[in-house]
Amino acid sequence: LGGSISRALQQMSNATIIDEKVLSECLNEISRALLQADVQFKMVRDMQSNIKRIVNLDDLAAGHNKRRIIQQAIFNELCKMLDPGKPSFTPKKGKTSVIMFVGLQGSGKTTTCTKYAYYHQKKGWKPALVCADTFRAGAFDQLKQNATKAKIPFYGSYTESDPVKIAVEGVDRFKQENCDLIIVDTSGRHKQEAALFEEMRQVSEATKPDLVIFVMDSSIGQAAFDQAQAFKQSVAVGAVIVTKMDGHAKGGGALSAVAATKSPVIFIGTGEHMDEFEVFDVKPFVSRLLGMGDWSGFMDKIHEVVPTDQQPELLQKLSEGSFTLRLMYEQFQNILKMGPIGQVFSMLPGFSAELMPKGHEKESQAKIKRYIHMMDSMTNAELDSTNPKLMNESRIMRIARGSGRPVRDVMDMFEEYKRLAKIWSKMKGLKIPKKGEMSAL
Ligand code: GDP
Ligand code: MG
Repeated sequence: LGGSISRALQQMSNATIIDEKVLSECLNEISRALLQADVQFKMVRDMQSNIKRIVNLDDLAAGHNKRRIIQQAIFNELCKMLDPGKPSFTPKKGKTSVIMFVGLQGSGKTTTCTKYAYYHQKKGWKPALVCADTFRAGAFDQLKQNATKAKIPFYGSYTESDPVKIAVEGVDRFKQENCDLIIVDTSGRHKQEAALFEEMRQVSEATKPDLVIFVMDSSIGQAAFDQAQAFKQSVAVGAVIVTKMDGHAKGGGALSAVAATKSPVIFIGTGEHMDEFEVFDVKPFVSRLLGMGDWSGFMDKIHEVVPTDQQPELLQKLSEGSFTLRLMYEQFQNILKMGPIGQVFSMLPGFSAELMPKGHEKESQAKIKRYIHMMDSMTNAELDSTNPKLMNESRIMRIARGSGRPVRDVMDMFEEYKRLAKIWSKMKGLKIPKKGEMSAL
């Protein structure tokens, strides 16, 4: 995909005269690539006409950065398409919220329910899981296994066949137990059928969820729009989670799901495991969709803001792909100073969305300072180690004592470290283009 887009842009920038026809041909080529990435036909067509409206041919003819202008226009259009204009309902810690998950069978609901619960539990919430899938044999066992592994309370039944009854019982029980995030997993069917939607409508009416999350498999292709719309028509879908983004799918269906449900994507699933779950971040997602790779913007930023003499060292560390606590320590200090390297790091997907969410800069800063303070109580060997097993219980206790923080905070910091190390490891072996060699796409 990326190949055909850059080829299209390349051909265009080689053309001596940029006229309507050349631009059209280029856009057609890009459209074909987006269709292959499962972006809906109608949306591709809309994007095409928007670009034609936005991009000024005179600018293109005059400037040298033809590819860049068009690339930027396409990028912005796709970002806009992923923004429904209003945020989804956000549950508040300590206040009861009921979250209902819907989606076809196999889309990843049960797995995603647990990931969502686990994600919040790590942040100090009290989640609980209710299995209202009485359709598929083994559904309760699956949820029970997941919940047990994550030490999350659960509710369900092997004998009761009425999903509404179980849902209501489960939600009531966990309300009494003061859980703040009550998650209702529902059934799916292989096909979209009336019985499923009627069941969803009834469960929703009985449990009055604060948020209904539509779970969608990223590999369903062009079916995404109709599927999302069908669910939206029976229940008040308010957010989308796209699963299996670790596979081959580029995830163009996410644009359809946003359009059909008028709701934002909030998380993506990137594997079968409980922690393979990421806060959705529009820009890296669109980069991936366009085949630009998650790191191209990041690389641009390095060349733009890091002093030339500091670039080689930083790039060397990046391409080694091993992330020590010392490196985390240094980068946190950079971020606090918000010097050039700090700016670069704040652009990394995992750093920006997760560690420093917009509007929470103060809290983020305080958290980073806390981490730095705890790392001050670590030994050199600990800071330089790449072996996660080194951090045993007695070391964690010592760091907690040394920094005067609760053990939970130290554990938290290690979780953060593991998360960032995973992001970092994706950069291993990264070919680093020299300034001026950056291709447009
Ligand atoms: P449900 O029928 O909607 O409840 O779907 P499940 O949660 O049972 O998931 C169906 C299959 O998809 C299971 O084998 C999951 O392990 C797998 N799965 C779910 N999410 C992901 C993901 O993000 N990545 C990958 N690779 N597999 C996933
Ligand atoms: Mg299930």
